[in-house]
Amino acid sequence: MNYPCEFCDTDQEQVQKPVTVTRQRCGQWFIFEQVPAWVCPNCGHRYFEAETMESMEAHMTTTPNNARPVTAWAISLTERAG
Ligand SMILES: [Zn+2]
Repeated sequence: MNYPCEFCDTDQEQVQKPVTVTRQRCGQWFIFEQVPAWVCPNCGHRYFEAETMESMEAHMTTTPNNARPVTAWAISLTERAG
C-alpha cells in the first residue's frame, strides 16, 4: 500500500505498524492499543483502514467488557496574556 500522504509532500511509503489511538465519545475516553495503522514516515500522520475505524466505532457504543480501566491526567493548556 503506497498512498501519497495527504499532509506532506513526501514520496516515502507509509509504514504499517501498531499504534495507540485515543478517542472521546460523550465525555468518555477510549484508548485503543495495538491498532494497525499506516504511518507517514515523514510527518507521522496515521491512516486507518475503514474496517479498523468501524471496529473502533463499534467498541465505543457500549461499555467494553474486555477493557481495563486506566487513570489519566486531563490537562487544559490556556494561553495566558501578560
Ligand atoms: Zn506525511
